[in-house]
Amino acid sequence: MHELPIVLDVVRVVEEEAKARGLSRVTKIYLVLGELSSVVDESVQMYFEIVSKDTVCSDAKLVFEYVPASLKCGTCGKVFPHKGSSFQCPDCGGDSVLMRDTGREFYIRSFDGT
Ligand SMILES: [Zn+2]
Repeated sequence: MHELPIVLDVVRVVEEEAKARGLSRVTKIYLVLGELSSVVDESVQMYFEIVSKDTVCSDAKLVFEYVPASLKCGTCGKVFPHKGSSFQCPDCGGDSVLMRDTGREFYIRSFDGT
């Protein structure tokens, strides 16, 4: 449910930006979504279809780019992207911890229009 205000924001920002660029319709919107973000892509898609009606974004396709969280090895200090369920360092095999505030992003990377 909390995706609705987020989607309203996305459409508002893209509309303003499209206007500033003189675009009459937006074809694609690229969104960056962290794996630990509480935003669900399916909900974003669903709300977007409702919210974008009668706006320059009505025909736009959402393209999600998923960003993994980062882990930091407790032994050698290497920082690497989180994959699957492993917390093992790819360099030394040591245990790693999740770095705070990574993988939580949600923002508009860019959009295309005509
Ligand atoms: Zn390591």
